[in-house]
Amino acid sequence: MNPAEWLARTARAHPDRPALFLGARHVTDYAGFARQAGSIAAALAARGIGAGDRVAIFQPNSIDYLPLFYGILWAGATCVPVNGKLHAREAAWILGHSGTRLVFAKDADALRATEDIGQTVCIETGGPDHAAMLDTQPSDWPEPMAGDAPAWLFYTSGTTGRPKGAMLTCDNLLAASLSYLADVDDVAPDDAALYAAPMSHGAGLYNFIHVQRGARHVVPESGGFDPAEILSLARELGNISMFAAPTMVKRLVDRARSEGSDGAGIKTIVYGGGPMYVADIKDALSVLGPKFVQIYGQGEAPMTISALSRADIADHTHPDWEARLASVGRAHSVAEVRILDAEGRILPPGDVGEIAVRGPQVMAGYLDNPEANAKTLRDGWLLTGDLGHLDHGGYLTLHDRAKDLVISGGSNIYPREVEEALLTHPEVSEVSVIGQPDPEWGEIVVAFIVAEPGCTPAPADLDAACTALIARFKKPKRYVMVPDLPKNNYGKVLKTELRARLGDD
Ligand code: AMP
Repeated sequence: MNPAEWLARTARAHPDRPALFLGARHVTDYAGFARQAGSIAAALAARGIGAGDRVAIFQPNSIDYLPLFYGILWAGATCVPVNGKLHAREAAWILGHSGTRLVFAKDADALRATEDIGQTVCIETGGPDHAAMLDTQPSDWPEPMAGDAPAWLFYTSGTTGRPKGAMLTCDNLLAASLSYLADVDDVAPDDAALYAAPMSHGAGLYNFIHVQRGARHVVPESGGFDPAEILSLARELGNISMFAAPTMVKRLVDRARSEGSDGAGIKTIVYGGGPMYVADIKDALSVLGPKFVQIYGQGEAPMTISALSRADIADHTHPDWEARLASVGRAHSVAEVRILDAEGRILPPGDVGEIAVRGPQVMAGYLDNPEANAKTLRDGWLLTGDLGHLDHGGYLTLHDRAKDLVISGGSNIYPREVEEALLTHPEVSEVSVIGQPDPEWGEIVVAFIVAEPGCTPAPADLDAACTALIARFKKPKRYVMVPDLPKNNYGKVLKTELRARLGDD
């Protein structure tokens, strides 16, 4: 089924329901939202674009985003959402790789100026061509799409090498969306999905279930993540749900604390996409209360591998509470999760190996990349490249990506454990641990530390924070104080860049 049917049906049943908000301002109801999507679809069809074609959106979050996104699906085409923060050349590479026929772009001129743009037609969003498309007589109903038709070509963030295009089918999107109701949160019509993280990524995926339920969609006026703006929008609009990377949660919590706010109006913050440290989520709970759900996923199984429920996160009386907070929860309803050894054999609870997942949310494969497909998809299982273990209760704990594991003196050291320990030191704000090649040990543990403002934690005290919680051999041999950590556009720490910095020493 074409996911755009959810929009068409909601618009027929509840045309007057408020749908799209720019900041606190109501811009369009569901009738208007569907009309815009239908017009974009009709205009695409008039250009001969339909099933099997790819149409991209290259721009930051905006009020135009969802009508364009649905317009592309409504036409039966595949949408290629490209992170609006990418350089025009990086975006042009994705457009070329995906064979995109037409792109909606905020800065169409920058794209046109790149060498790689080839045959792709560029339409400037907000420009006259876009306006003419919106004036087209809308197509009445979304084009039918088969369950296995690609709906979203999801380019991975590519912290190493070129991004890969994960083909997400209609069924993948529907399975992931329905799992939200089963495993993350219920959604009511008076809820509001707030897009503070890029809609080209996981945050955008959560739009579907909010459309299905006829809820509101809020794009902050800043177009991005501004903690003060979010707290104020939540107070004004109420029942806000949002996805936030752990680094965003930390900034929101700091802002709420400084304002004396308890996050009134925020219903749910879904966090994931990178490690949430136990000290940080405890702090977040103490300031904002039980508003949190964690998810673990990747573009290849979008947002839908495991979830740590609101109840698990809030239940501080449970004897396993801390271990659960350090975990990524239990498998989503639709996900089978296994831990595999290097030969692909299933490991028992407690043993660490590669996390594999199977289910209706797992991508059909990477576009035109047989080598990556052979490495990643095996007998229907997606090999995530993440290391982890399951406990007897089915809780999954991540142990960093395989390539981030530090092997020092023959012992495996998971950076996450060291990072968790260092974060218990009150003067440490952020930390990232990597391995540095060493002739004697193979690798040594190096910690990059961002101190709390005005603080300079002493190495001896950092050592003490580690040895209070973890084995001595895991303690960093070197601390590097930095003003901030390098992060990609989704807020993930770029360990490759930290490694390169050490290489430059
Ligand atoms: P992406 O495909 O860009 O969303 O990146 C997915 C990767 O982010 C996963 O393979 C994990 O390494 C990491 N990740 C996602 N969710 C979590 C989480 N809840 N905790 C820790 N790491 C996560």
